[in-house]
Amino acid sequence: MFLGHFGVAFGTKTRQASVSLGTLFLATQFADLLWPTLLLFGVEEVTIQPEQVVPFKFVSYPITHSLLLDLLWGLGLGLGYWLLRRNVRGAVLVGLLVPSHWLLDLVVHVPDLPLYPGASPLFGWGLWNYPVATQLVEAVLFGGGLWLYVRRTQARNRAGRYGLWVLVGLLVLVHVSSLLGPPPASVTALAWMGQTLWLVVILAYWVDRNRTFRTGPAGAAGTPPAFHPSIV
Ligand SMILES: [Zn+2]
Repeated sequence: MFLGHFGVAFGTKTRQASVSLGTLFLATQFADLLWPTLLLFGVEEVTIQPEQVVPFKFVSYPITHSLLLDLLWGLGLGLGYWLLRRNVRGAVLVGLLVPSHWLLDLVVHVPDLPLYPGASPLFGWGLWNYPVATQLVEAVLFGGGLWLYVRRTQARNRAGRYGLWVLVGLLVLVHVSSLLGPPPASVTALAWMGQTLWLVVILAYWVDRNRTFRTGPAGAAGTPPAFHPSIV
């Protein structure tokens, strides 16, 4: 699951205008943002299997991809958000989005997702074995979330207008190239590629600062947009 996580973040923005899209990206993708660093330190493990439909075997990733730890990371991130912003609703959303990653991954992964570190049973409904269905789910989640975001926000300037489409284009490009391109040459290469996800989060913060939340009905002519600066 790649685009689907971002779709959830885009959609959530429409529920809580004051939380930056960057923070929502950070929350939904926290597991995949942390994962490359733990791969580089050898704490979590993946192997590349180029001959398979899914070219990765997630050997061990209990810190980033166990349900228990994702719930705890969510608690931590939600608490951190509350301390920074004193926004209870925003903090709850941020806290829930972190384990939403596990639930979405559950749909597509083959059984490799643990409930907790250690000798946990592994879960995964294996939609990845059905590539067309997987892409359909990704497209519906991403397209649906983005549609909600575009409908409920509007650009304050050119950065907000074109920045959003640069962001969307970048996400789609990464997704398509991972589908069609050759698998990474090594786990180290994969991990460094994964670190570039942080740039997407930074870009989302910047795009979000250059867009405002509409107050009136979506697209209502003459409704002056209210400016809600969303810093974090
Ligand atoms: Zn993941």
